[in-house]
Amino acid sequence: MRLSQARIDGIIRRHLPRGWKHEQRKTVYLHGENVRGYVEFIERKIITETVKDRETLFCFLHEVGHVRCKHVGIGIPRYIEEYEAEWYAITAMRNEEIPVPQEELFFAKQNVRDQVRAAEENDEDVHQHIKRWSSRK
Ligand SMILES: [Zn+2]
Repeated sequence: MRLSQARIDGIIRRHLPRGWKHEQRKTVYLHGENVRGYVEFIERKIITETVKDRETLFCFLHEVGHVRCKHVGIGIPRYIEEYEAEWYAITAMRNEEIPVPQEELFFAKQNVRDQVRAAEENDEDVHQHIKRWSSRK
């Protein structure tokens, strides 16, 4: 499925939270590491790779999910934050009637799975429904 840039830009405009800026970069670095996107809560800025297709749009919506779910470091376990952000992105894509690329769903689950594993290694109790979702194919 090919998305026009106008369609993508419209979705970005509608989903960007009020009062927030979106900065697009060719490559995104956070603490010297190449990432796909991140949120600057104090500056109210979402930084992502240039949004030009379904994959990069999904990534933008994931970061919007962190903002909408208010993941501002108030003690929500990281695996829950990632799970909520992935669900925001998946739901937003479905509401826009854009199929979630299979590979993105795979990455989303892998992301949550990694965080679930980290929580378990920390002896934290993890929600089983999140663990189940992240380990399903
Ligand atoms: Zn995230």
